[in-house]
Amino acid sequence: MDNRLAIDGGDPVRDTMVPYGKQNIDDRDIEAVVEVLKSDWLTTGPKVEEFETSISLNAGSNYSVAVSSGTAALHAAMFAMDVGPGDEVVVPAITFAATANAVIYQGGTPVFADVDPNTLLIDPSKLESLLTSRTKVVIAVDYAGQPCDYDALKLICDRHEIKLVADACHSLGGTYKGRKVGSLADLSVFSFHPVKHVASGEGGAVTTNDEIAAKKIASFRNHGIQTDHHERKISVDYKYEMLRLGYNYRLSDIQSALGLSQMRKLLESVACRREIAGVYDSAFSNLDIISPVTVERKVGHAYHLYVIRLESSYLRFDRDYLFRALRAENIGVNVHYLPVYLHPYYQRLGYVKGICPIAEETYQNILSLPMFPNMENSDVEDVIGAIYKVTDKFYA
Ligand SMILES: *Cc1c(COP(=O)(O)O)cnc(C)c1O
Repeated sequence: MDNRLAIDGGDPVRDTMVPYGKQNIDDRDIEAVVEVLKSDWLTTGPKVEEFETSISLNAGSNYSVAVSSGTAALHAAMFAMDVGPGDEVVVPAITFAATANAVIYQGGTPVFADVDPNTLLIDPSKLESLLTSRTKVVIAVDYAGQPCDYDALKLICDRHEIKLVADACHSLGGTYKGRKVGSLADLSVFSFHPVKHVASGEGGAVTTNDEIAAKKIASFRNHGIQTDHHERKISVDYKYEMLRLGYNYRLSDIQSALGLSQMRKLLESVACRREIAGVYDSAFSNLDIISPVTVERKVGHAYHLYVIRLESSYLRFDRDYLFRALRAENIGVNVHYLPVYLHPYYQRLGYVKGICPIAEETYQNILSLPMFPNMENSDVEDVIGAIYKVTDKFYA
């Protein structure tokens, strides 16, 4: 048998690439979309509202507003919190760029917060030192699907009269102290991109208990126009008024029907993700070259990602090598994320290297393993087998 690594010309552990994430579309999902195609509505119709009701139910919120993407939802959240020029918004360094971009869309200034070295979540103990008289909002990101320490964050935000927004794009279906993600901050933001828990193609939502904010967001997604299609239908008045500058951030009925159908499988799919995470956890528990990210006891992790860290003391072995070696074995590993301010665009805005040292160091050592609900047991075994195969070389 050829024991050489695939990167050295040996046979890979499998013939086809297992991706890091993948949507799970079944016949019911397909039927739901086809039904809409045969109906009177393609864009905003009854399915949008049905989807919103289902989002509120699953997020534990009074209101939810569906929009065209998670990024649009973040933009709408910054708008609803009145972020504008001169305002600062605290964002963790390790997140998808869209979290910080949304602040800039509104003319605000992102201020990057370092992460906790164990959980890789925004570190409440470092938050206070970043707050100024211009701080308007803190955005907490439930990185990988682990809810942040919302009680600690809320306490600090309340003391300074700052709003708390949750970027919960990774954590739909997760919980914090038994409470649902989506009900833990002033506004919570979700994405329905295919790699996330619920796929609508493209799509997103903001959930909240604040009725005024929900109405502002509903108007923002439709050009800033006050009335929605229901109000216009029951009114004989042909007039509508644009009250503010909005966008076309609407979600279609086609997308909503898919999202609604997918949402029915949410709990089941989160349970599958947790099971896979459990298998990974025990498989790697005696590999001292790999350390899992700490999961706090008070949370129900939603496992959008399963992230491992390489022990940096193993100097002969770096993340980029592991990444290439695993890809050669046909394991679709990925890296989430480069600290946002290290992207060239943010560097040009003047953010300097070194502002979040833990995030920068952590970034060098993290790797996301394949994680999606309909992963076969054999896929999971292949990932584990490949990790052992590649790391074995370095114990020799
Ligand atoms: C996916 C994601 C977004 C953006 O969502 P889209 O629907 O792709 O626009 C924002 N923040 C985080 C943390 C994400 O993972």
